[in-house]
Amino acid sequence: MSQFPAFSLELFRLDGQVALVTGSGSGLGNVFARALAVAGATVVSADIDAVSAESTAEEIRNAGGKATSLIVDVSNPDSVSAMVNGTIKEHGRLDILINNAGIASPAHRVHEMLVSDWDRVDAINTRGVFLCAKAVLPQMMEQKKGSIINISSIAGLAGVSNDLSAIAANYSASKGAVATFTKQIAVEYGRDGIRCNAIAPGWHLGTQLGKEALPSSEAEINALLAKLQELTPMNRTGDPEELAGLLVYLASDAASFMTGQVIAHDGGWTAW
Ligand code: NAD
Repeated sequence: MSQFPAFSLELFRLDGQVALVTGSGSGLGNVFARALAVAGATVVSADIDAVSAESTAEEIRNAGGKATSLIVDVSNPDSVSAMVNGTIKEHGRLDILINNAGIASPAHRVHEMLVSDWDRVDAINTRGVFLCAKAVLPQMMEQKKGSIINISSIAGLAGVSNDLSAIAANYSASKGAVATFTKQIAVEYGRDGIRCNAIAPGWHLGTQLGKEALPSSEAEINALLAKLQELTPMNRTGDPEELAGLLVYLASDAASFMTGQVIAHDGGWTAW
């Protein structure tokens, strides 16, 4: 007799669980927060921009879900502790962490890259992911259950052509670190009932990421879009909403034996 329930769509439900989403004020984080709430979780929307964090929480409440918001700077240990302690104090538990907050910098090649740009990206994309995981793990260990989902990138799996002028080595290195960190957490905490997986999104346009690195003229943007399409087997870029199903799956008991995986969501970009 199996100790696991027979398959049903109920396995994807997150009722009674508390999910913390960083960088939830915009882009993919907003999609993730809304999707977790639709699946039944109580969502804590956390962003360095308090107004946008609250606007995501309000969007969820207006749609009939449960959500609160917090301000956080994921690169700051005290701020991260306050976010996690505040979540546990208000909601009594913490089951799911979406380590989503991230930035990009101007796409300079390595020999021209500013050390300050390297450090800025590293502080949020790598140190921030570490600090948030470190802060939630004791609570998840006490609960003997937890799911951490880190947002890496296709740029963390392989180099991206410089012709695209959109990805720099500081970003790639930070997302590669997130992918390996994911595997290490999975190995270290599997016995504590904690799963850790990463999503490596391909090009999902319409977010604020790397806006400063994008070309300014419409012709150049169109040329970039055409190139992205050409390099993607599915011949299009992704829509942020398309990531929601994978995220909810990884967060839920439907993925009860899934850990340490870095899953590309990229229309085939990494399948060439
Ligand atoms: P976005 O810029 O729209 O959202 C990022 C959010 O993070 C913003 O709300 C921002 O305020 C917040 N943030 C920035 N610094 C923060 C900090 N120090 N503390 C807390 N919050 C902070 O970008 P996005 O495209 O939605 O990116 C979300 C994640 O997905 C990032 O980690 C990014 O690297 C990753 N990603 C995105 C794509 C894509 O195509 N959009 C592809 C691969 C990976």
